[in-house]
Amino acid sequence: MAPRTRATASLAMPRSPTFSTKAPSASPIAELLLARYGAYLDESDGPVLDQLAWFLLSTRTTVENCEAAYASLRSRFTTWAEVAEAQPEYLGECLKPAGLYRTRAANLKAALAAIAGRFGSASLEGLRSLSDEDCEAFLLSLPGVGLKVARCVISFGLGRRAFAVDAHIWRITRRLGWHAIAGGAPTRAGSDAIAMVALEADDPLSLHVNLIRLGREFCPAGETRCALCPLTGVCPSARS
Ligand code: SF4
Repeated sequence: MAPRTRATASLAMPRSPTFSTKAPSASPIAELLLARYGAYLDESDGPVLDQLAWFLLSTRTTVENCEAAYASLRSRFTTWAEVAEAQPEYLGECLKPAGLYRTRAANLKAALAAIAGRFGSASLEGLRSLSDEDCEAFLLSLPGVGLKVARCVISFGLGRRAFAVDAHIWRITRRLGWHAIAGGAPTRAGSDAIAMVALEADDPLSLHVNLIRLGREFCPAGETRCALCPLTGVCPSARS
């Protein structure tokens, strides 16, 4: 179990039915964000199961609370097999900093049982020999794992060219014109459309992390800070 830390102009032709003709393509966006935030370090040679646990803990909580829960887990268990055998109440206590701890504990134990059933032990290294589609299908079959977590594991954990969409990326990419689907929660079709565009960037992992950083710093759900945003020169929604 490895420690984790997260935070994540030419005009292009349309690439999907929802891609605006005024939208900038992924490459200039990625380059502007790299200039602002730098590149994200690829950690995909580490245990894949660490990544799954991290991303399961990261949903519906803050980065700080996720880090606290993950550190608590690491301090009390040496292996994932021990976590699989833990009493639900004790495991829940460990995960308390992240909130929803009873559900998280139940999901983590059930996921570890399913992983052992498929791969013979509490390890996800077996995913490395599966196709992207089979990896995604297996991950989505695990309790508590949605499309965002599955694609985070495939991109961060396996180092594959997948692109996960969270609420920040969903909102920013709508403002950029990469999709036109209303609502605050990413849909499957919208996530696929965004991935089609984003995966044209050389480093989609850094693009993912940096869009989230941009969302927190300049482009929140409320009032945007377009005048200071590094994308203001290429963003069709930029306000002066
Ligand atoms: S220019 Fe404004 S709307 Fe566009 S990404 Fe930046 S903050 Fe968001």
